[in-house]
Amino acid sequence: MRAIVYDAPETFGVRDVPTPEPAPGEIRFRVELAGVCGTDHHIHDGSFFAAFPLTPGHEPVGIVDAIGAGVDGFRIGQRIVANGVGGCGSCANCRRGRPLLCANLTALGVTGPGGFAEYMIAPSAWCFDADDLAPEVAVLAEPTACAIHGVDRLHVAPGSSALVFGAGPTGLILAQLLAKSGAAHVTVAAPSEHKLKLALALGVDAAVPIGRDGSGYERLTVGSPDGYDIVVDATGAAAVTERALPLVRDGGTLLIYGVTSPDDRVAISPYDVYRREITIIGSFAQISSFPDALNALRNGRVRTEGLITHRFPLERFGDALTAVSSDPTAHKVVIAP
Ligand SMILES: [Zn+2]
Ligand SMILES: [Zn+2]
Repeated sequence: MRAIVYDAPETFGVRDVPTPEPAPGEIRFRVELAGVCGTDHHIHDGSFFAAFPLTPGHEPVGIVDAIGAGVDGFRIGQRIVANGVGGCGSCANCRRGRPLLCANLTALGVTGPGGFAEYMIAPSAWCFDADDLAPEVAVLAEPTACAIHGVDRLHVAPGSSALVFGAGPTGLILAQLLAKSGAAHVTVAAPSEHKLKLALALGVDAAVPIGRDGSGYERLTVGSPDGYDIVVDATGAAAVTERALPLVRDGGTLLIYGVTSPDDRVAISPYDVYRREITIIGSFAQISSFPDALNALRNGRVRTEGLITHRFPLERFGDALTAVSSDPTAHKVVIAP
């Protein structure tokens, strides 16, 4: 089969590799679509916890085409999505019931072969039926699952006001989930007018243009002079995190959701956090949110119309990465192997 193979960070090509056979308990599926996201850029740079050589692609949807021994509940021809994340079961965090914080976390597409390939293998326990969803919807299961975990971490109080920085697919999925989880007013702030237009189409209450240079932030205080109960940084830009904290209302919460470089640092006022009783929380990926994500997609709690803007074959993976990082009209970019 053909697959994207990285020998090392920044060094990849489309290769012919042996088509993998499912071991007992595993499922092989023919990848229909696999989403590309900012994390794939970090993997490309070697700054995430990626293990090379690697075939990335952690947002796959595909059709079951081979089933390993001992697998029940799946059939050839069925559309599935695979949750690629699992704990080792034996490290200290796994043993205290926090497998997402596993010291030896498995993440298909990061630590093992993912979906930028014609075929992919996953343990059947990590696969979910998506037969009733179009591939263009099901491919958003992983980002939706991650967003659901983020909203779980927030414990949104009914009537809250929320501000989401970032209008990429993740930001727009998070914004919709916040609105459906009790937030009474949701604002999205981002530099791209194109993306803000889609944010409004998907039902957010306000879309505010801001500059990467920090311009336009004063617009965010016009309707909300006291700040926002919830501020989410879904950009992965440390400068945004720094500018976000003052916009948190007294007693409110800042959720750090975007993936920055591990070396990034921000300056915050501990006094401000102390005096205003600000809560700062993080949300990393997810491990058990796929069923909820699929329900949210199925029932329209998360709408996806217009989210996929670019589709590339394996051969144009480099163009897909470029579109994610620098095309202001790109929302979700997918690979169709
Ligand atoms: Zn992703
Ligand atoms: Zn573990």
